[in-house]
Amino acid sequence: MTLFSPSSSWASEEHHLFSDSVQKFYEHEMVPKVENWNERGIVDRDFWLKAGAAGIMGGSVAEEYGGSGGDMGFDSVALYEQSRAGDGSWGYGIQSIVIHYITTYGSPEQKANWLPKLVSGEKIGALAMTEPGAGSDVQSIKTSAQKDGNQYTINGSKIFITNGQSADLVIVTSKTDKDAGAKGVSLIMVDTSKVDGFRRGKNLKKLGLKGNDTSELFFENVKVPLTNLIGEEEGQGFYQLMKQLPWERLLIGITALGAIDYALDQTVNYVQQRNAFGKRIMDFQNTRFKLAEVKTKAEILRSFVNDCISRLKENKLDAATASMAKWWGSQVQNEVMDECLQLHGGYGFMMEYPIARMYADARVQSIYGGTNEIMKELIARSIDK
Ligand SMILES: Cc1cc2nc3c(=O)[nH]c(=O)nc-3n(C[C@H](O)[C@H](O)[C@H](O)COP(=O)(O)OP(=O)(O)OC[C@H]3O[C@@H](n4cnc5c(N)ncnc54)[C@H](O)[C@@H]3O)c2cc1C
Repeated sequence: MTLFSPSSSWASEEHHLFSDSVQKFYEHEMVPKVENWNERGIVDRDFWLKAGAAGIMGGSVAEEYGGSGGDMGFDSVALYEQSRAGDGSWGYGIQSIVIHYITTYGSPEQKANWLPKLVSGEKIGALAMTEPGAGSDVQSIKTSAQKDGNQYTINGSKIFITNGQSADLVIVTSKTDKDAGAKGVSLIMVDTSKVDGFRRGKNLKKLGLKGNDTSELFFENVKVPLTNLIGEEEGQGFYQLMKQLPWERLLIGITALGAIDYALDQTVNYVQQRNAFGKRIMDFQNTRFKLAEVKTKAEILRSFVNDCISRLKENKLDAATASMAKWWGSQVQNEVMDECLQLHGGYGFMMEYPIARMYADARVQSIYGGTNEIMKELIARSIDK
C-alpha cells in the first residue's frame, strides 16, 4: 500500500518516485532499529543525519535552503511511509512543523541559519506550547518573554514536548503581553546550545511512542536576541499557530492511515498462518468480516486524506476539515488497532508482536495536536456560524 489513492490529483510522478525511495530507506535504515529505539526511549542522532542525507526532510523546502523545492505532498509521503513502516519513534512530524513555521514566517536570517541544518538532520526542532497548567486552552499559557533592551527574557515551563531531550531549536509559545489575551502570544526561538537557564526535565515514561523522547522544559531567565521572534511583530503567535495547525492535524490523519495499513498487513499475515479448530483463523467469517471492515475504513480514510492534501497544496485546507481528518483518522486508527490485536489472540498482548506496540502508540493520536474533543468543537463552530 501507499499513501496515494487512485484519484490523488495532487501526486506527480516525482511523488511516486519519492515514495519508493523513502520506503526503501526506511526498510534498511529504520525498521531494523525500531525495537532498539523503543527500548532506549530515543532515536539516535545518526539516523537523523542519514534521513537528512537521503533528502527525506527537505521535500517541501526551497533549494537555496538545502531542500528539493517541492510541495507538502513530499512531507505527507515521508510521514505516511514512516508510520507504514511501523515506527512512531522518529520525531520527524514535529521537525516538519518547525520547518514550516520558519519557511512561512521566518526572517531571511532565521531561514538561512536554521533551515539547512533542520533539513540535513544536523539540528532537531521542537515546538513548545503545552504547559503543566495549560494544554487545550493555549491562550492561558504563563510562560513570559519580556523585552529587556535588545533581548527577551523567557521564564516558564513546558510539558510533554516531543523531541524534548534532543531539541537544538525550541519554538517557545510565550506571552509578550500578559494582558492582551490571544494578541499577547508570540513565538520565540531558543537555540538550546546558546543560552543559560534552559533545562530539560527527564525523558518522560509513556504508555506508547516509547522511542520518541518527550520532556518537560524549563526556562529560567533565558535571554535571547529580539531577532529570535518569529514574524515581524509581537502578538502574532496565536494567529501563526492557527494558520499552521491544519498541517499538524492533517499529519495525524496521514500517520493514522500509515499505521492502519501496517496493522492490516501484520494481521492478515498472522491469521493466514495460525490455525484453530482445523482451519486458518483467516477462514472464520468473523475474521473475514473484521478485516473487510478494516480495509473499508482504510480506503475511506485514504480518499479523505488525499482530498485534504490536495486542498492543502492549494492553500484551501480550512481548520474544520483538517480537524475532521485528525479526529476521524485517529478514532479509526484506535478502533482498527483494537480489532487487529483481538485477531492475534494472546500473542497480540505480547510486546514481541508489533500489533501490541501499534495499539499503545495509537492511543495518543486522539490527545495530542489538539484533543479530539477540541477538534469536534472546531467542526461544530463551522456548522453553527
Ligand atoms: C506524547 C505526547 C506528545 C506531545 N507533544 C507535544 C509537543 O511537542 N508540543 C506541545 O506543545 N504539546 C505536546 N503535547 C501536549 C498535547 O498537545 C496536550 O496534552 C493536549 O493538547 C491536551 O492538553 P492537556 O493534556 O493539558 O489536557 P486538558 O486540556 O487538560 O484536557 C483534559 C480533558 O478535557 C477535555 N477538554 C478540555 N477543554 C475542553 C473543551 N473546551 N471542551 C470539551 N472538552 C475539553 C480534553 O479534550 C481532555 O479530554 C504532547 C502530549 C503527549 C501526550
